[in-house]
Amino acid sequence: MKKPTRDERQRMCTGKRRYRSQGDALDAALIAGVERRRKAYLCPLCRQWHLSSA
Ligand SMILES: [Zn+2]
Repeated sequence: MKKPTRDERQRMCTGKRRYRSQGDALDAALIAGVERRRKAYLCPLCRQWHLSSA
């Protein structure tokens, strides 16, 4: 798999909703009913949490 460029990583971050904590991210996934298809991860760019589709 190709390593994402800095720009791509930036877009992955800015295009996503941010959460202050892993709990907040998982709560949001739970409310949306997608907790089984999403994982929360700590973003190295903004130091907040996003939901991945993994
Ligand atoms: Zn981010």
